[in-house]
Amino acid sequence: MDFIPAGTLAEALAAKAERPEAVPIAGGTDLMVELNFDRHRPAALLDLTGAAELAEWSTADGLVRLGAGVPYARIVAELGDVLPGLAMASRTVGSPQIRNRGTVGGNLGSASPAGDALPPLLAAGAEVEVASVRGVRVVPVAEFCTGPKRNVLAPDELVTAVLVPAATGPQQFAKVGTRNAMVIAVCSFALALHPDRAAVGTGIGSAGPTPLRATEAEEYAAAELAGRWESADPLPEPVLRHFGDLVAAAARPIDDVRGTAAYRRHALAVLARRTLAWTWRDYQEEHRRCA
Ligand SMILES: Cc1cc2nc3c(=O)[nH]c(=O)nc-3n(C[C@H](O)[C@H](O)[C@H](O)COP(=O)(O)OP(=O)(O)OC[C@H]3O[C@@H](n4cnc5c(N)ncnc54)[C@H](O)[C@@H]3O)c2cc1C
Repeated sequence: MDFIPAGTLAEALAAKAERPEAVPIAGGTDLMVELNFDRHRPAALLDLTGAAELAEWSTADGLVRLGAGVPYARIVAELGDVLPGLAMASRTVGSPQIRNRGTVGGNLGSASPAGDALPPLLAAGAEVEVASVRGVRVVPVAEFCTGPKRNVLAPDELVTAVLVPAATGPQQFAKVGTRNAMVIAVCSFALALHPDRAAVGTGIGSAGPTPLRATEAEEYAAAELAGRWESADPLPEPVLRHFGDLVAAAARPIDDVRGTAAYRRHALAVLARRTLAWTWRDYQEEHRRCA
């Protein structure tokens, strides 16, 4: 197996154009498991860890440009205020060792429906920046994964960054697993309130062939909140419950070793109801403080 170290992003893109079969490696927390179990034996590995450009983040015009190679530990430590949903999800990934190495670029590269970074990126309305020697293109996160472990990347392309709107309201991420840590989600749910545009964003994990948005639930919640952003009036329990039901209905779960489809739908309804209640409570508190 050839090992191709890239010292810069330009070198990485040139190497991927020349050797499209080379498999990129960032933190290696997914890829090394695959190699250790001999599920793949790629002809070449393209090491991205030397490309410093991928490990940077910046903000401009209300948008965070998060390099594909920024590890979860740094998202937790540095971006909790601007990307609270993604930071919450990052906190649940694996263990400290996995969070020190694992990256959002790798989560997108693996395109697992259980990838914990993906629901909060969906809820935030993020886009994926993809590059090759042919140029740069931007793909909405909702269109990036095309099936279980499949994505839109062409053989010569790399994920260079995700472009995430900075939070304008409370966000939440909740995950059900068979234990508290080091667990792949049985299902997960991310919610973002966007008071700046009177909208609600959602992301469902591990309950469909790809991470999913619950668009009908988003529209229902936005309509219910339409008269409440100014007053911050409480959300009645039936509204929370109906929101949960709509989220459950948007899921496309299967029975597998981690849980049944019926359990996943039930759990998602609970997570959705709770996260809407929590985010709205946070919004009310903030509203009262500013009043
Ligand atoms: C013990 C353990 C626990 C885990 N727990 C969780 C968990 O709780 N939640 C969760 O979501 N995941 C979990 N994972 C999976 C893994 O940590 C994450 O998916 C992580 O985001 C992968 O990032 P990485 O940088 O390590 O990717 P890598 O392993 O380096 O790469 C993963 C895939 O992405 C591709 N890739 C990497 N970077 C790029 C790029 N810039 N452009 C294009 N393709 C790229 C690689 O070629 C490969 O196919 C766990 C893994 C382990 C071993």
